[in-house]
Amino acid sequence: MRNLPSDEEPAKIAVIGAGISGLSAAIHARELGADVHLFEASPRVGGWIRTSRSDSWTLEWGPNSILPSSHCLIDLARRVGLESQWQNADRCARKRFIWKDGALRALPTSPLTIPFSRALSPAGWCRFLMEPWIGRGGCEEESVSTFFRRRFGSEAARVLADVMVSGVSGGRAEWLEIDSFQPKLRQWEKQYGSVISGLLRSRLAPSGPLRRTATLVEGLEQLPHALAAELADRCHLESPIVAMEPHNGRWRLQQGGAYFSDTVDVDGVILAIPATPAATLLQPLSSRAGEILQSIPYASLTVVQIGYDASKCRIRPEGFGFLVPSSESLGILGTIWSSSLFPSRCPAGESLATVFMGGSRHPDQIDESDTMLQDRAIGALRTAQGIDLDPHMVQLRRAPRSIPQPYRGHRRKVAALRDELRRWPALAMAGSHLDGLSLESCARSGRDAAHQVYSILNCEEGSP
Ligand SMILES: Cc1cc2nc3c(=O)[nH]c(=O)nc-3n(C[C@H](O)[C@H](O)[C@H](O)COP(=O)(O)OP(=O)(O)OC[C@H]3O[C@@H](n4cnc5c(N)ncnc54)[C@H](O)[C@@H]3O)c2cc1C
Repeated sequence: MRNLPSDEEPAKIAVIGAGISGLSAAIHARELGADVHLFEASPRVGGWIRTSRSDSWTLEWGPNSILPSSHCLIDLARRVGLESQWQNADRCARKRFIWKDGALRALPTSPLTIPFSRALSPAGWCRFLMEPWIGRGGCEEESVSTFFRRRFGSEAARVLADVMVSGVSGGRAEWLEIDSFQPKLRQWEKQYGSVISGLLRSRLAPSGPLRRTATLVEGLEQLPHALAAELADRCHLESPIVAMEPHNGRWRLQQGGAYFSDTVDVDGVILAIPATPAATLLQPLSSRAGEILQSIPYASLTVVQIGYDASKCRIRPEGFGFLVPSSESLGILGTIWSSSLFPSRCPAGESLATVFMGGSRHPDQIDESDTMLQDRAIGALRTAQGIDLDPHMVQLRRAPRSIPQPYRGHRRKVAALRDELRRWPALAMAGSHLDGLSLESCARSGRDAAHQVYSILNCEEGSP
């Protein structure tokens, strides 16, 4: 056993960063029995999860919704009494579109609808459907686009891999590593010899409590607020941790905020902050860890929310939204038809579109003026949907360096980082830059970090 002060005195664990990764880590560590303190640099919890609500508009500036397979996240919400607050998206959410050759093209919703989809040419779909007969292959650190080309053909790689990557991460399919970006696809290839077969089997697997893509009734920020309320006075806002060092078998944290003394001593630490601030904290302890973290690239996004009169559109927004392949020149990455998914997000008679811009494809857009970005977003909707009137509501926010990019070699880097951190047993990391950027992956990384640190403190002679 670790040398704790007494049986009654639980291990004291500091979680640094109150995004979803840190909140998940804090809730799980507390449930395990630790004395948890969560330190957040900003005046609010949630990190990139940001919802604003005014005049009957509910605007999501970060994540918009979660998948029904987000078991860890759903479990986290249940632990803080939010199970009745989930709101399933409208049935039309299954319909997704891409902008191609001057029109919105529906993606197939099932194998039976493939012949009707013009997202790929007939030859492109034929090659796509040959996937179950393509043998296993590929190499370590294969890119998403090479993986798609090998399994589904070059047209699918050019169009489908391209929009999947830019829609999820604002990144580029040639640069991202399949094993880090969508490990499930590679796993299905290895396990069943086919991605399509794995996908069909996954649809037969028992589903969780949600039927479809979902949100919370007051928007996704309801979750971090409820998690922070559960932690009560153990959640310290405006309390950045500016340095950390091993001290007498424990950790000594230096805190830059106003509410605590300058230093806090704890038994274990969970770092749930993005790669760049994590590199700053770890650099003095391990230049190797600092270098690895600094080398993880990030993409920036800009989000433009546009409210308009749907009855004046040539194409009524019905479905999840549309994505734009890099071969097209619409100037945006894609659009979520937010009010088609969740009608309660805007006043009656209005429609709400959430437009995403920037990413690795347009890295300079983050520096453009608000007016330029808004005009480009409105112009893209006019072209794609034929909106005649000026929008009634336009708002914009930037998300600089918000999306970590798992380039080829990312898994190797993360393994090397974890190896390096093993020098300090009661130290773990969580966050979107490690094993996936979805809210579900972040919640899981927080949970796993809590279990790792807690079990080390309670089962082994482990100390900094
Ligand atoms: C525009 C956008 C759309 C997205 N859409 C989706 C989606 O639809 N579905 C989905 O699943 N995911 C989506 N994501 C991704 C997902 O939101 C993020 O990956 C996730 O929220 C990251 O959570 P995190 O806790 O790891 O990091 P963060 O949210 O970055 O939180 C880290 C926290 O650490 C704090 N911090 C930093 N340094 C310190 C320090 N020294 N001391 C104390 N605190 C510190 C920060 O202030 C911050 O609050 C989206 C992201 C963005 C930006």
